Amino acid sequence: MDMPFSDKAAKPQTRSPSARREPMSDPFGRAITYLRLSVTDRCDFRCVYCMSENMTFLPKRDVLTLEELDRLCSVFINKGVRKLRLTGGEPLVRRGMMAFIEGLSRHLQSGDLEELTLTTNGSQLSRFAQDLYNFGMRRINISLDTLDPDKFKSITRWGEIDKVLQGIAAAKAAGLQIKINTVAVKDFNESEIPRLIEWAHDQGFDISLIETMPLGEIDGDRTAQYLPLSRVRETLEAKWQLEEIDDRTGGPARYVRVQETGGRLGFITPHTHNFCESCNRVRLTATGQLYMCLGQEDKADLRAVVHSTDDDEVLAKAVDAAILRKPKGHDFDMSRADRPAVRRHMSTTGG
Ligand code: SAM
Ligand code: SF4
Repeated sequence: MDMPFSDKAAKPQTRSPSARREPMSDPFGRAITYLRLSVTDRCDFRCVYCMSENMTFLPKRDVLTLEELDRLCSVFINKGVRKLRLTGGEPLVRRGMMAFIEGLSRHLQSGDLEELTLTTNGSQLSRFAQDLYNFGMRRINISLDTLDPDKFKSITRWGEIDKVLQGIAAAKAAGLQIKINTVAVKDFNESEIPRLIEWAHDQGFDISLIETMPLGEIDGDRTAQYLPLSRVRETLEAKWQLEEIDDRTGGPARYVRVQETGGRLGFITPHTHNFCESCNRVRLTATGQLYMCLGQEDKADLRAVVHSTDDDEVLAKAVDAAILRKPKGHDFDMSRADRPAVRRHMSTTGG
């Protein structure tokens, strides 16, 4: 079923786009074509590796309106960004999200944007999956670390697995391609990972395994959670044949095809630097802070610029200046348990 999203999603343009330019290039010659936007750092879950139970969120007064975020995204798209991922926190808990996505879909219709996508915990998908499809989304990432209801509760603290599984089913029924993201957590889901992979591949989903990253203070000890994927991969190789496939996305995932299931499996290993040289992305927070690297503290305050002028060219120049500060690579070190590598949580920048 291919719904013509163009009719439903059409919206009058509020700003005339400046002429399309070559993609931005950073000091290391990497083209910046991918923006990840954390639309909110708030969430209906409290995953133990992501947040503490009592989180201090970004001050509401600093959070940009959806109109301001739309303006920022449009500036990036006019500067050659071709892929936009909405994330968070949980993006689907922010009020007005469907209208925001519907508005952004004009860039898909114009051809300026190749892909508009989302990373979600799945809790709200039963309500929103069909709209996402109708507004031009075709692929989404859904996070799921276990299929066991009790374990799901313990890892997410506040989540309900039934709601998430219903959300996943709704996304599939709506025609969205799904990639499952599974954080590998020591002494938690190591033995269940093969079953999760089989489950995902059985339903036609890709699945990526992710190593925990030391972002933000959490209640526990991060080194106790860290499970190197090299170890997981060894276990999987004893069970299955993994065939390397060359599906690089400019991101930290390396993909294999599991011969026995026929499905794709990604390994996201941020602790190795092997992906930094092809990094094509930057991250924008809900308060308009642009992070040029997930693993570094440096940021550019675009909110101040948004509030100071209506001139998109000035905003575009501020973006250019920020891209020139993109570092060569990150600086994660899991051996330092006493402090996170960066102070902000993953939910601030959305991973
Ligand atoms: N709430 C949405 C979700 O869970 O998919 C989107 C935001 S969440 C921060 C994005 C991804 O980051 C999820 O797949 C989550 O499991 C992962 N994540 C969160 N904290 C992490 C950490 N410290 N290390 C590695 N992955 C993390
Ligand atoms: Fe929320 Fe996603 Fe973080 Fe879990 S990983 S607490 S769902 S933002």
